[in-house]
Amino acid sequence: MTAHPDNTKLRVSTRLTQLGRNPAEQYGFVNAPVYRGSTIIYQTLDDVEQRRARFSYGTAGSPTIANLEDAWTTLAGAGGSVMAPSGIGVICLSLYAMTKAGDHLLMPDCVYRPTRNFCSQILAKFGVTTSYYDPMVGAGIEKLLQKNTSAIFLEAPGSQSFEVPDVPAIAAVASKHGIKTIMDNTWATPVFFRAHEHGIDLSLEAGTKYLGGHSDLLLGIVSANEESWPALRSTYERMGMLPGAEDCFLALRGMRTMHLRLKEAERRALEIARWLKERPEVSKVLHPALPDCPGHENWRRDFRGSSGLFSIVLRGQFTRKGLASMLEGLTVFSMGFSWGGYESLIAPFDCAEYRTVTQWKPGGLTLRLQIGLEDVEDLKNDLDAGFRRLKKDS
Ligand SMILES: *Cc1c(COP(=O)(O)O)cnc(C)c1O
Repeated sequence: MTAHPDNTKLRVSTRLTQLGRNPAEQYGFVNAPVYRGSTIIYQTLDDVEQRRARFSYGTAGSPTIANLEDAWTTLAGAGGSVMAPSGIGVICLSLYAMTKAGDHLLMPDCVYRPTRNFCSQILAKFGVTTSYYDPMVGAGIEKLLQKNTSAIFLEAPGSQSFEVPDVPAIAAVASKHGIKTIMDNTWATPVFFRAHEHGIDLSLEAGTKYLGGHSDLLLGIVSANEESWPALRSTYERMGMLPGAEDCFLALRGMRTMHLRLKEAERRALEIARWLKERPEVSKVLHPALPDCPGHENWRRDFRGSSGLFSIVLRGQFTRKGLASMLEGLTVFSMGFSWGGYESLIAPFDCAEYRTVTQWKPGGLTLRLQIGLEDVEDLKNDLDAGFRRLKKDS
C-alpha cells in the first residue's frame, strides 16, 4: 500500500482505517507499536543540553500518543489535538486553557453534571464565574454576555435531556465578540458533527464512549482550530496530564471500527426509538433525529447522523417498586452509566435536581437508553417484558 497523498480527500470510513499508523516505518506490521517510557536517550552533549529530540521526555509525548493526536486532528479537521486520561479530564483542560482569573463563562443548563461541578468547585476558587443558559437560546445568547465573558460552552445534544442547540448561531455571536466556544461533541463525534466547520474553537470528545467502543477504556480528546491551538497545547504541556500508552493503543484500535459501530448504533437506536414512540407507556422519545426532541430542526440542518443514546419519558404514574421490578428484571439491558460500548444500558435520571435557569418538567419518569450491538428483537422483547413488570408492580 502506498500512502494516499492527501488522506483528507478520502471518505471518513477509509480515513479511519488509515490514520495514525505507517506500516513502512513499522517493519511492515499493520498496527503501530506501543511506546512506553519516561526517559529519552540523547547521543551528544549538545543534544542533551538543548533537549534536541522529537520527544524530549515522557511527558512531552511519544509516537503512540502522537499517532492518535495526529489521527484525531485530521479526522476532526482541526489545527491540533491533545488528550487526557478521561473525558472529564479534557473538559477541565479546555476550561483551564480558555479562562483566567476574573473571567466569566457561559454554560448550558443541560450540561454534563461533572462539568458543572468543575465550574462551581474548582474554577470558582480561581475567580472564574459561571452562569447558565437555556440550551435553546440560540442567538439570544448575546443578551447574556458580560464584559468579561471569555468562553461559551456547548453540549450537543444535552446530557440526558437531548436538547440540540443552534450551534452556528451561538458560535457566530461568540466570534463577533471575540469569545471562545468549547463544545462537548461526544454524542455525535466528528463522524456525525463537524464542530470546527460550524465555528467551534475547541471540540471535545469522551473517547471513553464511541472511540473506545468496548467499555474498557477511559480517555478524553480535544481538538482545537488553528487559532486556539497554541493556547490549548501550552496548557496541556504545563499540566502534564497525559494519557497512558495502552489507552492510546486501544483508542487507535477502536478508531478502525468506529464508523461501522456508529452507523450500526444509529440504525438500531432509531429502530428502538421509533418502536418506543408507539408504546402506550411512553409519552415522549427524546432522540435528536425524532421530532419530539427540542432542537430536532437544528439536528436536521447540521448533523450527518445520530448515535445510540437517547431518553424516553414514561406516560402515567408508576411506583418506585414497579420501576425497580422493570429494571432489575432486564436480561439484555443492564443498568449503568457511560455509553458507546457494545452492550445496551438503561438508567433512570432526573435533571430537575441540578438545573438552575430552566425547568425540567417532562411529565413522567425518565429513562436514558444506550443501544448496543445486541439483536434488535432481543432488545425489544426485553423492554416489552420490562414494561409489563412496571405496570404489574406499580
Ligand atoms: C461520559 C461523558 C463525559 C466524560 O467522559 P469520561 O471519560 O467518563 O470522564 C463527558 N461528556 C459527556 C457528554 C459524557 O457523556
